[in-house]
Amino acid sequence: MVREALLRRRMVQGQIRARGVRDERVLTAMEEVPRHLFVPPDLRDAAYDDGPLPIGDGQTISQPFIVAEMTHALRLSGSEKVLEIGTGSGYQTAILSRLCREVVTVERLVSLSMAARTLLEGLGVRNVAYVVGDGSLGCPEHSPYDRILSAAASPDVPPPWLAQLAEGGIIVLPMGGRLEQVLARVTKRDGETRTEVLGGCRFVPLVGEYGFRD
Ligand code: SAH
Repeated sequence: MVREALLRRRMVQGQIRARGVRDERVLTAMEEVPRHLFVPPDLRDAAYDDGPLPIGDGQTISQPFIVAEMTHALRLSGSEKVLEIGTGSGYQTAILSRLCREVVTVERLVSLSMAARTLLEGLGVRNVAYVVGDGSLGCPEHSPYDRILSAAASPDVPPPWLAQLAEGGIIVLPMGGRLEQVLARVTKRDGETRTEVLGGCRFVPLVGEYGFRD
């Protein structure tokens, strides 16, 4: 336990703060969430390494720095309702749950969604709704959202996300080709959308109606 806390502190200092993320709320969340519980047991020793790891079903838990960068880019103050696409291991969900009011997280693979839910509930996380389905359609039942974060890459911003985003809202997503993308931040204000490119990245594809075909 103490060892993991030390590894986390080292991860935050060496991989995240050192690369320019100074958002104290994000850094604290990353220092507190036990990432080793979100990776398969045989990979626990690598949980705090500087890279993504496989979590089964061909999916990955994102690199710690990417999680920090995307969370920082969302500009959360604590009052927001956030739609997350691609629950995966639930690690990013755990980080978000500490920094906003409510998370609605959508995953297409039922096995991953169930495992994430069991783990997060066991950790006492209560402000998350778990949805299984095609997240490229968003989740109209719980909309509108103040923020949308996607951990799966799409060729473009899926139109339902823009429709379900509140005025003044922000979407952070990997956008581009199946193998390589840019991390983009899309803001919606006065009926107009503005897109900023934050850097290059590599994510698994968003598989669905407004993503890539299986
Ligand atoms: N944030 C996750 C990373 C998961 S990787 C973590 O911290 O572990 C991306 C996830 O998106 C995968 O679990 C994949 O199954 C899921 N995914 C891909 N296409 C999807 C879609 N259309 N709807 C919902 N989830 C999708």
